[in-house]
Amino acid sequence: MKRFKPALILVVLILFVQGCVSVPTFRSYKRGEYTSLEKLCSKYGIDYNFRVFYEDIRLKNKYLDAYLKLGSNYILVNSRVVEFPVKVAYDRGSILVPYGFKEYLENLFVRQKSLTAYLPSSVSIKRIVIDPGHGGKDPGAISPWGLKEKTVNLDIAIRLKRMLEKKGFKVFLTRTGDYFVSLKNRVKFARWKKADLFISVHANANHSRSMRGMEVYYLSRRFTDPESKALAAAENLCEQEKITLTYRLKKIVGDMLNVENRRESLLLCRSILKEAKSMGIKTRRAIGAPFYVLKYNYMPAVLVETGYLTNKHEERMFRNKFYRTQIAQSIAEGVYYFVKELNRPRIVSR
Ligand SMILES: [Zn+2]
Repeated sequence: MKRFKPALILVVLILFVQGCVSVPTFRSYKRGEYTSLEKLCSKYGIDYNFRVFYEDIRLKNKYLDAYLKLGSNYILVNSRVVEFPVKVAYDRGSILVPYGFKEYLENLFVRQKSLTAYLPSSVSIKRIVIDPGHGGKDPGAISPWGLKEKTVNLDIAIRLKRMLEKKGFKVFLTRTGDYFVSLKNRVKFARWKKADLFISVHANANHSRSMRGMEVYYLSRRFTDPESKALAAAENLCEQEKITLTYRLKKIVGDMLNVENRRESLLLCRSILKEAKSMGIKTRRAIGAPFYVLKYNYMPAVLVETGYLTNKHEERMFRNKFYRTQIAQSIAEGVYYFVKELNRPRIVSR
């Protein structure tokens, strides 16, 4: 158990007095809304690490890996973002956590203790949202021979849904026909469905007609590749609405995504590409890019650019339903092996 050094507390207090740390004070809260983190940790044998200047706390024990941020009511618990009615606060040398968090942990520990020493992975993926890109007034890319991206995306997505359902997943589509859905609503839909995984399906276009192959994208806040930058701009083009998250919340969510979901998304990208390659589909690479649907999802999320509509060969393939089935199959297999790998039992050492 870590104890604060008095000097450290002093630094925090000075920051408070100067108003640098914009954390609400305890006095403004009602009784019963909070519990002390220190007490909670000693009761359950949780180690914690408080980084003063980052204003974040990492909690760890045999059953738990949690990430908290002062001033946020979102807590990352075993790879899941959980929302609480009150924010993590700091008062006179104590970190105060929402009372609901204590109850959440109690439940979690009761459930976990009934298991053996072999624990499943903290992530269990059951619910998947598939997002066929574009639709309605937004056709997406159009091939020189008249094939529309929105049509290809939806067809592949429907096939993919059926395949994943056969594998036992619960699957939802952000659109089931040719109509417009805003990017914001696609993200909202995934959160509403409590998705564990988000897969956006697209088809690519390029001024170079020789360009072909499947690409899979994961979230990256930094991106250097000018091609993926241009693509992200094109895919996000139809979006006029701005998500109404405060800067602070955006940053918190961004940090959380960086910690957990990015790594998983990258693994999923690789898994999909591996399966596609083994089926003889031309593949290109896994790339990080800041697509809207990837950025504002609270779960592992990937965007599949299934191929190039501007390539004559691939465009002809896209018109063939067996090829579209094969594309869907490669994504489904990629997801299946990715989840299997995540759920592989691991020996937990303390
Ligand atoms: Zn697209």
